[in-house]
Amino acid sequence: MSTGSKQAEQSAAPGLTFEDRVVVITGAGNGIGRAYAHEFARRGARVVVNDLGGSVDGEGSDSSAADAVVEEITRANGHAIANHQSVVEGEKIIAAALAEWGRVDVLINNAGIAYPTAFAEMTAERWQTMLDVHIHGSYACTQAVWPHMCERGYGRLLFTSSPFGLYAAANFAHYSAAKAAMLGLSKALALEGAEHGVQANALAPFSASRMTGFDNAQQADSPFGPRYLAQLAVWLCHADTAENGGVFEVGGGYVHRVRNALSRGLHLPDDEHTAENIAVGAAVLEDFSEPVYPALGESWTIGKDVFGENWREHFAVLEDAE
Ligand code: NAD
Repeated sequence: MSTGSKQAEQSAAPGLTFEDRVVVITGAGNGIGRAYAHEFARRGARVVVNDLGGSVDGEGSDSSAADAVVEEITRANGHAIANHQSVVEGEKIIAAALAEWGRVDVLINNAGIAYPTAFAEMTAERWQTMLDVHIHGSYACTQAVWPHMCERGYGRLLFTSSPFGLYAAANFAHYSAAKAAMLGLSKALALEGAEHGVQANALAPFSASRMTGFDNAQQADSPFGPRYLAQLAVWLCHADTAENGGVFEVGGGYVHRVRNALSRGLHLPDDEHTAENIAVGAAVLEDFSEPVYPALGESWTIGKDVFGENWREHFAVLEDAE
């Protein structure tokens, strides 16, 4: 939590503006995306307000959601255009941005749907619809903008995970799986994009929104309104921000960084490595007194355990990966 003096430092920070920047925000007709659209526009960005305009559970479509936000921004002297495609047709969204303004600096993959389904009741359709919007939608928009950003040597990507993606929730196996996928996608692109000036980060929001049952007026008054999300998004997507591959929980004025932590290792070599000995030693796996936090891209924890500092020599596959 911030201290008083830290708050003073923060208020002294220069304004993070987006003059001449083009920001594409998916699912910006409601909730968190709408708050992003307003905040980026207020800071000078030209905003593509994408929204299919369906229900929270992904039924139907309605152009009025995106149109209303564009009208609000335009009335406040900001610059925005509406786009009504589904994110699964990401190339059309990016094409619309390029046709209007010739560039895309920031893509925020925010569009989302939610509907609980007990796993016993899961159908192929309920599973696939959830994965299509969150995983394929984020993939399709990002894939479409990727060559453009790499060619220009600049880009900021933001992915939307969830506490359900980090920690899971019963009756949300489909949503939890889709939101966990956002972490892998964001981090892999952070690694691939770094040499091209493209940075990727992920948020796990906690916010009043249409999805969580609040209308626009209630969201504006809420102690966990989407305005809080917008401030973190602005910071992460600004040109001066070096953050890359980060994961953050955010809401209600709080921001936390999320990391993976490893417990103390249980080492049982050769014949000692039996299920019975693992059962006896399992308490060690609860010992986080000296946690190890693997860095972004450090996917070789066990390789290091086994081979020590020369672990790389033992993995031919690394030559292909690098
Ligand atoms: P919301 O329902 O208020 O807004 C989501 C918007 O996405 C809607 O306007 C909807 O029409 C749009 N959308 C849905 N499917 C689309 C598609 N295929 N193409 C284009 N637009 C589409 O919900 P929100 O709470 O603002 O959610 C924003 C994101 O944050 C989602 O990804 C959601 O899963 C995630 N999230 C929200 C919370 C929370 O506490 N509100 C928590 C965790 C994650």
